Amino acid sequence: MKRYRVRPGSKVRLQEWDPDDASGFAGKKAAATRELEKLKGRLEVLQELLYAERRHRVLVVLQGMDTAGKDGTIRRVFDGVNPQGVRVAQFKVPTPDELAHDFLWRVHRETPGTGEIVIFNRSHYEDVLVARVHGLVSKAVWERRYREINEFEQMLHQEGTTILKFYLNIDKAEQRRRLEARLHDPTKHWKFSVSDPRERRFWADYMTAYGEAVERTSTDWAPWYIVPSNRKWYRDLVVCRSLVKTLEGMHSKFPPLPKALSSLRIS
Ligand code: AMP
Ligand code: MG
Repeated sequence: MKRYRVRPGSKVRLQEWDPDDASGFAGKKAAATRELEKLKGRLEVLQELLYAERRHRVLVVLQGMDTAGKDGTIRRVFDGVNPQGVRVAQFKVPTPDELAHDFLWRVHRETPGTGEIVIFNRSHYEDVLVARVHGLVSKAVWERRYREINEFEQMLHQEGTTILKFYLNIDKAEQRRRLEARLHDPTKHWKFSVSDPRERRFWADYMTAYGEAVERTSTDWAPWYIVPSNRKWYRDLVVCRSLVKTLEGMHSKFPPLPKALSSLRIS
């Protein structure tokens, strides 16, 4: 999955990242679904270890255009894990209370505690994406946020948080197909927002903003992955695999029985 990881300091041209790519998996969709099930089994075990060990914290950031699959990824990758140790935080248009604070305020309080995995469905990156595209803040403000984000994430990292950031990469034609599908499927109408077609008109501006955000905030301590996401099965596979790899690298172990308890007899 290394191929999708954005090397810190490298130039990012999003148009060079193929959203249809599926070259990291030799088989077709059916085989990928089986592979995902296997990976999810691993994820369940690793998450339980993480929770039991209470040594690490894991933050997963999901970003992407409308319909890119943030909700779907959460549903399909995490549906098997123990809800006690995993939490989703969604970030919508800021409330007046949130707007009365700095942009990281609402984000910081949702970060994972020890033993926990937290998935951000949108994140502080909205403050250099939608905020930039629609001029919600001045250029001087969003410009300095890249550094503020990097420092914030570095602090989290130094305090023991492992951060993985996924940009779910779809193209404009795929978004059209998905928006149309939403419009024609009564079970998906609730997902359709009047702002979706409007935001779509800013596609090029969003691509510029995403490109720069990923380029300037892919760091050793909080790398970005650009995930080909036109095919949902491949997207799920890439996200799940990266997560499993990262958790495996932690070498978590179940904590041993405390010495004082080892001679205990249950009567
Ligand atoms: P959804 O994810 O479809 O529920 O939509 C959430 C909406 O909230 C999106 O249109 C985001 O752009 C918007 N949003 C999230 N964070 C911010 C923010 N910091 N400033 C402005 N809009 C935001
Ligand atoms: Mg939406």
